[in-house]
Amino acid sequence: MNYDDKNIFAKILRGEIPTKTVYEDEYALAFPDINPQAPVHILVIPKGRYVSAADFGATASPEEITGFYRAVSHVAKQLGVEDSGYRIICNIGPDSQQMVPHFHVHILGGHKMGHVLA
Ligand code: IMP
Repeated sequence: MNYDDKNIFAKILRGEIPTKTVYEDEYALAFPDINPQAPVHILVIPKGRYVSAADFGATASPEEITGFYRAVSHVAKQLGVEDSGYRIICNIGPDSQQMVPHFHVHILGGHKMGHVLA
């Protein structure tokens, strides 16, 4: 799947759609999900043009991958869920109901969750 520069997270990265920045560095941007599913629900996206976690893992540089996942861990700590625990979710493709075709990690936490995998 080719990257679509018109997707909503590309627009957020370009500053065309406002959001509340929770964290930003050279590899990643983190902002609140517009439709939160938990007391803490933050999205972390890479700065590069990657459609999904699969695309990111297959084509991003080791530096980008390390930088991105360090940012995810940093955000969880910043949000205060590092010790209580949290869930990270990446939807990939149609069966997973991925809605936005720019790789993103959901960080969900702030309450006790059920043990649901699918
Ligand atoms: P996906 O199903 O993993 O692709 O999740 C996409 C997420 O993006 C959903 O949880 C939406 O609520 C969220 N979302 C869509 N548009 C925006 C926005 O403009 N700002 C923040 N979150 C958004």
